Amino acid sequence: MYLCMQYVAGDILTLGGFKEGYVGYTNKGINIIEQGTSPESPVCQGYIVPPFVNSHIHVGDAFIRQQHKLIPHDLQTTVEPPDGLKHQWLAQASSNEIITGMQWTIQEMKRHHINWFCDFREGGIAGVSLLSQALQSNQINSVILGRPTGLSYHKKEIENLLYQTAGIGISSISNWDYSELEKLARFVHYKKKLFALHASEGIHEDIDLILNLHPDFLVHMNQATAADLEQVAAENIPIVLCPRSNHYFGLQPNYQLLKHTTITLLLGTDNTMIVSPDMLAEIRFIQSQTNLFSIEELLNMITYQPRKALNLDDFIPALNFPRSCIVLDYQSLEPLMEI
Ligand SMILES: [Zn+2]
Repeated sequence: MYLCMQYVAGDILTLGGFKEGYVGYTNKGINIIEQGTSPESPVCQGYIVPPFVNSHIHVGDAFIRQQHKLIPHDLQTTVEPPDGLKHQWLAQASSNEIITGMQWTIQEMKRHHINWFCDFREGGIAGVSLLSQALQSNQINSVILGRPTGLSYHKKEIENLLYQTAGIGISSISNWDYSELEKLARFVHYKKKLFALHASEGIHEDIDLILNLHPDFLVHMNQATAADLEQVAAENIPIVLCPRSNHYFGLQPNYQLLKHTTITLLLGTDNTMIVSPDMLAEIRFIQSQTNLFSIEELLNMITYQPRKALNLDDFIPALNFPRSCIVLDYQSLEPLMEI
């Protein structure tokens, strides 16, 4: 048994921001996290951060990227339910094809140091069951949000879905008859599960109707006005941004407006048929678009903020830090090692 302590040092991202210090670990995992100079010369140095969280993904469409299908740069043609190309491809694919794609992209996430992902799973109970099968042999944590097969509320179907999921993730208010959606949201809250939805992605949607559903978080909000964001901030609802997927469809979150709110921002990779599930790629992409956010703010969007917003607990209580960490190169942000 090898229990000799080794060290990594640098800027540790803690719940209270970056602290200069070191992490001591053995082959059993992290033992100590201290500020100051490491007692022995460190194995490597850099930003020391918790493993990443992908706060919004659809792993079910991974097989489409595997098959290199030509994907139009138009949101409506490609992803809008019920007739968007993605939904047609999903309907035509065999269960085996979909599960194989899911397993492939789960491996991608693990290679990209993602410990948790939150999936908006299409296809009702059958769709959730495909993901459960794909997850069987994989060591990764998931928050699965299902959705009904149709665009209407049936209590029994939702009851069954909630039995197997953490909640419900809806396409958008525009696809639904609003009164059906109200019944659905009310029932999900009654069952104390998560209710989330895509909002103002390609078109502006009414913020009062969105907030009236009391969502636990929103995805996108590209078309949100300053007044919309003020209301979201007042209700303390986090927003998941998916910059690379948005960019594919010629869309962009309004970073300037978002920066000047108190809204908790999270990052997701969204359509797996378009982009790989790589959170550092999302950060680098934001950096290429704007210099409004510090590296600490960006890293928080993929580490602590989603853990809090999604209620994820992988902390070592005594250290107030997750059970593992990643060391990132200061310049390139390339992962140097994972403990
Ligand atoms: Zn999505």
